[in-house]
Amino acid sequence: MARPNHFTNVQRFGPVQVGTRADARGRQKHTAACTAPRCGFSADYDSRPAAELAARTHTCTTN
Ligand SMILES: [Zn+2]
Repeated sequence: MARPNHFTNVQRFGPVQVGTRADARGRQKHTAACTAPRCGFSADYDSRPAAELAARTHTCTTN
């Protein structure tokens, strides 16, 4: 049974972490979130490859 906001299959691409979780409706969501302080980048994607691509191409805007 999927738990909302419980991330699985977490993978790191530079400062960005990608994880898969179930949303409130029980559907899979793929989230890319930057761990750099003050960056705040975070986005949900319907597909894992989309989330991984976003993570790979993310550039922090805090510099
Ligand atoms: Zn960032």
